[in-house]
Amino acid sequence: MSSRTVRASRALAFLLALALPACVSKQSPQPDEAEAAGENRVVATETHTLEEVAEGVFFVRYTVPRFNSNSLVVVNDEDVLVVDSHITPATARALIASIREVTDKPITTLVNTHFHFDHAHGNQAFGPVRIIGHEFTRRTMAGEPLKERTYRDWLARTARTVSGLETRLANMEEGEQRQAMAAYLAGAKAEAQEAEEVAPVPPDTVLLERMTLWRGDREIQIVFCGRAHTGGDVVVFLPKERVVFTGDMMVGGPSWLGDGYVNEWPAALEKLKTLDFDLILPGHGAPFRDRELIDHVASYYRELWSAVRALRIAGRSIGETAAALDFTKYADTLGIRQPGVDPQAVGRIYELLEAREDARKE
Ligand SMILES: [Zn+2]
Repeated sequence: MSSRTVRASRALAFLLALALPACVSKQSPQPDEAEAAGENRVVATETHTLEEVAEGVFFVRYTVPRFNSNSLVVVNDEDVLVVDSHITPATARALIASIREVTDKPITTLVNTHFHFDHAHGNQAFGPVRIIGHEFTRRTMAGEPLKERTYRDWLARTARTVSGLETRLANMEEGEQRQAMAAYLAGAKAEAQEAEEVAPVPPDTVLLERMTLWRGDREIQIVFCGRAHTGGDVVVFLPKERVVFTGDMMVGGPSWLGDGYVNEWPAALEKLKTLDFDLILPGHGAPFRDRELIDHVASYYRELWSAVRALRIAGRSIGETAAALDFTKYADTLGIRQPGVDPQAVGRIYELLEAREDARKE
């Protein structure tokens, strides 16, 4: 990598951090990609990399410098199953085009790990396929998903990014950093525009606990481990291949907590650990093999829950609690290097605690 590329990519990393979207915690570390990629075959298209982590099983990452989620593509004897449909129909069409670089078999089945826009707003681009998700995901997407707060947050954030970048670009000298910023601005504008096309398509096939699909000799398990990142996350587990696609219920560090059930999440992670896998393919970031990361994340959620609860009982506001907390002891394990906690995460925990109190009163 040349120093010019390094400078440009640093500028881009800075921009991506500015515009960091809802589904990824600001503090998630990115595991070593080279180590995770190993010796697997990787097919690079204009928009994606498809890493063959087991025979016919591709971990798919979007390589355009814009926010998006990862997908899983399982090529079977007769058909193709895809997990998570990307953030917009336009990016989903790019995903389908990339899948066509590795197989011409028909895509018959789509799984949504959860309802969040960056995993499910591409559904409509797949046409008449079976879409599988948790019953909660079906209910949320059949309701008013465009009014969901995580989506609205992202739209507002994108609008702020666009106006902020326009102001900064107007006062900036020509150069690599300006070029990188201009490219990012164009992407953010395109994102906002592409979002207008979204007409959410909910899953037509639902599960509550577990579902198994057989494709020839291939066993594909879809498992609900309990409420975690949302009320209906499912993971896709291939027992023979020993890989699991976890969506956002387990990424390489803390996830976005704004729709989460922080108090129930550690139990869901315990259940995840009962599956017999070697490789975790997360909804964002690079694959990883270190199962201990699951324990660190679970213990962070437990401690976060009880610390927030204690400060709420002590009468602190959401802002005061967010500022008072310090989890930098997780710097080495989870990459939490700054004191303080995202106020939206704290607000969500307050909301859960209030709901519990209301339930007791009734
Ligand atoms: Zn999510």
